[in-house]
Amino acid sequence: MAMFRATPEPVNLEPLVESTIDWLDRRSGVDHKQTLGPLPLMFRWGFRFWPARCLVCRGDPDLRYLDICRRCLRALPFINGPLSDVVPLRYAPPVDEGLRALKFHADWRWAAVFGALIAGWSQASGAAPVSLLVPMPLHAARRAERGFNQAAQIARFAAIWLGVTVDQRILIRARPTRPQTTLSAARRRDNVHGAFELHPDAWLRAGESSVIALIDDVRTTGATLDAASTALQSLPRVSIQRWAVASTMPTNTMRPA
Ligand SMILES: [Zn+2]
Repeated sequence: MAMFRATPEPVNLEPLVESTIDWLDRRSGVDHKQTLGPLPLMFRWGFRFWPARCLVCRGDPDLRYLDICRRCLRALPFINGPLSDVVPLRYAPPVDEGLRALKFHADWRWAAVFGALIAGWSQASGAAPVSLLVPMPLHAARRAERGFNQAAQIARFAAIWLGVTVDQRILIRARPTRPQTTLSAARRRDNVHGAFELHPDAWLRAGESSVIALIDDVRTTGATLDAASTALQSLPRVSIQRWAVASTMPTNTMRPA
């Protein structure tokens, strides 16, 4: 079981929130001098089949590139202490509702919001630029039952913002595991230990990628991210970043020792 130590003082992460939103604004096409260039047109202009409303307040989504308004975006429960992983949000309303809407009702608008935020947060927090995104895999049976992998949907949107690719096959969930939420911290670690394997052609699939981000929707104790990143770490010359949309840890002013 991981040991945690408290950080000595609370850290003000407000500048990170502002620079995340700044990055999204610039990247959405306002600043064409960026090396990445503007996003695809349909993204910048909020191409939609239905009249857009802010997912939180139902008002005008003035950001244009996401179905959330600027005021509600700023008011999201951003993390209030540093984590060793790239995790912008706390698992609190309306983030928890958004994650459930995505997972159980396939609401892609939330995948777009979370994908953009996690991409912006990784940029703002100064994480090394990644070249490949790997969503946390579901076991084949679970994926068939749900019809999609929510982490892959988030990764798909994050990849558009970052101009990188997603590989959904490089990492395999080799055996089904019980839902982590039903287990104690110690049992969670046992539950996912050795549950992940690399695709037989993983070395080829990783190609020239030197920094890979592993993406999950929710980080609880970090046991699942530990188990999956351990499998990815057997790739040579690759460093792994661990990303999640939200953390459920009430002790988010703590980090792994
Ligand atoms: Zn709003």
